[in-house]
Amino acid sequence: CGIVGYIGFRPAQDVLIKGLSKLEYRGYDSAGIAVFDNGDLHVEKSVGRLAVLEEQIDGTIPGFLGIGHTRWATHGRPSDDNAHPHTDCSGRFVVVHNGIIENYLKLREELIAKGHTFQSETDTEVVAHLIEELYDGDLFNTTIRLLEKIEGAYALGIIARDEPDKLIAVRKASPLVIGIGEGENFIASDIPAILEYTRETYILDDGEMAVLTRGQVDVYDFAGNKIDKDIFHVTWDT
Ligand code: GLU
Repeated sequence: CGIVGYIGFRPAQDVLIKGLSKLEYRGYDSAGIAVFDNGDLHVEKSVGRLAVLEEQIDGTIPGFLGIGHTRWATHGRPSDDNAHPHTDCSGRFVVVHNGIIENYLKLREELIAKGHTFQSETDTEVVAHLIEELYDGDLFNTTIRLLEKIEGAYALGIIARDEPDKLIAVRKASPLVIGIGEGENFIASDIPAILEYTRETYILDDGEMAVLTRGQVDVYDFAGNKIDKDIFHVTWDT
């Protein structure tokens, strides 16, 4: 029930785990992270508390880009396989998701007919496979086409192995905020997860997506038109 994402200069794993711990109040049954590690997307996930995940990870995965998730199961029981992040068949695309993809059964059947094999029972996994199916070398364009196909409520964090300096965030009926840093940027379900690093934020509205690089954040509507977003300066402390 929580999402954290990071692109910058700090070890992503630390930012993700610390951020997820700040979202523990939202409740969860599993946790996981994916870190872009020297040409590979390295995924670690586990049913249970964050501490179980931390114990499972051997040392620190090197890498400065990643996404993390705490899950509150809606489709598929709490298990290691159903924990997020979820990947496509090739392992090139990784997704974390809060919410429900309402039309996932139909999408899943279509994808299976096209040869995709699924590793989980979640509604979320269709998103990773659909991205693989739609990918045209540009994750931004691919995400816009993805959004035409999925229905329901979702906050998404998406990264692609072949675009290691990009993190995409999407919001529709599930909260998501962007933290704006210097040489680093963040996404999170809620402000406390990023408050240690920055007080400058964009609060995404429904129907908005953001493209984050180390040095920049651009916000768009689902048709890909750029939006002039006001910065929200956080004055309170946790
Ligand atoms: N529907 C997704 C699942 O069951 C996401 C649940 C959540 O928001 O944590 O895996």
